[in-house]
Amino acid sequence: MPWRPGEDLRALLELVAPAGCAGCGRAAHRLCPDCRWQLGLTGPRPWRPTPCPPGFPPTWSGPAYEGVVPAVVVAWKEQDRVDLTPVLGAVLRRAVGSALAGSPEHRDAVLASSPVAVLPAPSARSSTRARGRSPVRELAVVAAGARRAVVPALVLTRTVADQAGLSARQRAANLGGAVRLRPGLAGALAGVPCVVVDDVVTTGATLAECARALREAGTGGVVAATVAATPRRSATARRPALPPAGGPD
Ligand SMILES: [Zn+2]
Repeated sequence: MPWRPGEDLRALLELVAPAGCAGCGRAAHRLCPDCRWQLGLTGPRPWRPTPCPPGFPPTWSGPAYEGVVPAVVVAWKEQDRVDLTPVLGAVLRRAVGSALAGSPEHRDAVLASSPVAVLPAPSARSSTRARGRSPVRELAVVAAGARRAVVPALVLTRTVADQAGLSARQRAANLGGAVRLRPGLAGALAGVPCVVVDDVVTTGATLAECARALREAGTGGVVAATVAATPRRSATARRPALPPAGGPD
């Protein structure tokens, strides 16, 4: 197997000085029971950003992106803590279940054993290349389970600026028209109810843009599910915690 500089160096360092809990740093835990508990504390709940971008799909999410949650998500996404994929995937799976149950069209498809597509929100190609993996797609596979197909059909049509640090309006402009379906997949998804999944929803610009692309391609209804959601704050409150750099939203 070829030497993978970043990954293998991290593995070596891990042998010398094992990392602590991804959430709180406590030694001797990859993810301590307290942090694991906090990830599952807030069950799936319907979530809408404020302000809500046009076309934002009905969305279910797990915990608020605060407390230990940002540290866990950043460790998973940016520090190659792939051991956290099953933990975060389980949180996302519950959100997907609620999103399916909350939409009559999706619920009927599940009951009839008709196809329902799970689509990872697209990542900027540069960030995927830099990481050497597609974290959200890995998460989608865990969340979809064995009975549902993960269809990585959503792609960015152009380079978008890193969403971190952009305002809601800037994020919407940054992403406007930036998502499309991979050529040849629109036919396979025609009329199929879709669930878009992502790690963190902040302004909703990414999910709204994914939903627009799917609707224009003639899919069935679109709902969405995310692991976590940035907490609502009033316009005068301090800025919400931003999700890790590199992801579109
Ligand atoms: Zn912890």
